Amino acid sequence: MNVLVTGAAGYIGSHTCRLLVQSGCRVIGYDNLSQGHCAAFERATNGGRLVVGDLADTDLLQRTLTAEAVEAVVHFAALALVGESIEYPQRYHQNNVEGSASLIQALHHCGIKRLVVSSTTAIYGAPEIIPISEETPPAPINPYGQSKWDVECLLQEACQRDGLGFAALRYFNAAGAASDGLLGEDHSPETHLIPIVLQVALGQRDRIQIFGDDYPTPDGTCVRDYVHVNDLADAHLKALNLLQPGQKIQVNLGSGTGTSVLEIVEHARRVTGHEIPCAVASRRPGDPPCLIADNALARSMLKWKPQHSSLDSILTSAWRWHQRHPQGYPSSE
Ligand code: UDP
Repeated sequence: MNVLVTGAAGYIGSHTCRLLVQSGCRVIGYDNLSQGHCAAFERATNGGRLVVGDLADTDLLQRTLTAEAVEAVVHFAALALVGESIEYPQRYHQNNVEGSASLIQALHHCGIKRLVVSSTTAIYGAPEIIPISEETPPAPINPYGQSKWDVECLLQEACQRDGLGFAALRYFNAAGAASDGLLGEDHSPETHLIPIVLQVALGQRDRIQIFGDDYPTPDGTCVRDYVHVNDLADAHLKALNLLQPGQKIQVNLGSGTGTSVLEIVEHARRVTGHEIPCAVASRRPGDPPCLIADNALARSMLKWKPQHSSLDSILTSAWRWHQRHPQGYPSSE
């Protein structure tokens, strides 16, 4: 199958490209390289074809879809930082919502009816009932979550109007790295908890700031559901194989287990053997106290089961990546 992957040079995109190639797909990458790394895509696909372009460029998307005889699309390209979205909401609408609208238009033009899309737990806001099932009404509390919910609404419309089949995969906290240490997380600036904790272990930062210890959680720090990036990649492959034109899939992808910020730090101390100093700081705006997935639907519908999402597997693989790539991907590769 010929599959176009937007955001193919990014963190989850590159891990998914690698799995798609391993499963026999021909992958064509599409990325504007604003966040992604050429080296990630090259390593994932052994030098596959990468088209450098923007989602807003509907014409380039259409030409690529036609020239490469694309049969299905996996869409990762998006801005995905809660804090940044609060500062620049318009940027999130433009990039995520209008960018996805451009892609949907290109798919319609080319008669492509299968689209797997990154969505997020952030669409649920700060729900009271935990674990969070897909029945929870969307109620985003930040522009990032709002932009992703807006994208799902566009997909629902295109499904009804044009018979587009889509799978919106609502990730909880993606984490971990490839087991051989070749692919991993490299954001600039880095804002995610696990990479920052490991940068402290490497001596690249003095300490980790804990954003709030007065949340209504067992130890007062925020609880998240960390899911290994390779488990997410596996869910994309399963969704792609299942998806039919006109079908609508909206499903949570999380491990089903909650871990607090302090628990991550403690576990990282054990895995790395480093002290990892921390200091309590004020809450980060837009952070819900607790997000844990009810993943029953993914298990039954996609026949998906997280295989690598234990804290040990996540932190060991991420630590291997960070030790081998203390400065991230080489820019020359
Ligand atoms: N966090 C923290 N210090 C940091 C980075 C993150 O305490 O330097 C907390 C953050 O407030 C949240 C959790 O770690 O409760 C996970 O944050 P991350 O940015 O990794 O993912 P998010 O849940 O925002 O998608």
